[in-house]
Amino acid sequence: MKDTYRHIGMRQQLIDNLREKGIKEERVLEAMNQIPRHFFMDMAFEEHAYEDKPFSIGEDQTISQPFTVAFQTQLLEVQKRNKILEIGTGSGYQAAVLDKLGGRVFTIERIEKLHIKAKKVFEILGLKRIRPYFRDGHKGLLEMAPYDRILVTAGAPIVPEQLKLQLTIGGILVIPVGGIEGQKMLKILRVSETEFVEETHGNFRFVPFLEGTKSK
Ligand code: SAH
Repeated sequence: MKDTYRHIGMRQQLIDNLREKGIKEERVLEAMNQIPRHFFMDMAFEEHAYEDKPFSIGEDQTISQPFTVAFQTQLLEVQKRNKILEIGTGSGYQAAVLDKLGGRVFTIERIEKLHIKAKKVFEILGLKRIRPYFRDGHKGLLEMAPYDRILVTAGAPIVPEQLKLQLTIGGILVIPVGGIEGQKMLKILRVSETEFVEETHGNFRFVPFLEGTKSK
């Protein structure tokens, strides 16, 4: 696969489109402008990679819509060198965007095939800092905790308590919460050892956050 001038042109248009749709954080748009989304998708969808739509990545999962990636990333307020945990690697695209923003990214996927595929794309793109894990993300990744930022990219019925407890004080968790019919985007700030402040940011529709792992 190659990143051609045509891809670069289409990507620029997507970025303009996201700006028109209300994404204000230029750093986020710039990071997305630097990641070739088509590398994270099936060749069959290459022509569509820069449309603002989700696409199938196999295993009944999807690569999130670019607007959703931009929106979640913006809410996360990533600072350089933040330690970030992403749950739901999927294609790996979101993890790549977080890496571009200077985050130190740990990403967990419960489906082994997707985990392996994403790892390959990280290698191809030279994204050596990203640390992918194959496991169930419900309990977070305790051995590397705490995290400045935690991002969940699947729709969870409730906020797993374990994730909140793996935040640093001042850390931020962004998680879509609700059933399969749709989720509310929550942004949870840990203000002290025991206190959390919660905000709601609109409605979204993610694939479900599921228990357990699926091996090849
Ligand atoms: N961030 C991804 C979005 C993928 S969709 C991207 O940029 O492409 C959400 C992903 O979350 C799916 O791949 C799904 O398998 C995964 N997932 C769902 N429940 C999970 C869990 N408990 N632990 C880890 N990953 C999970």
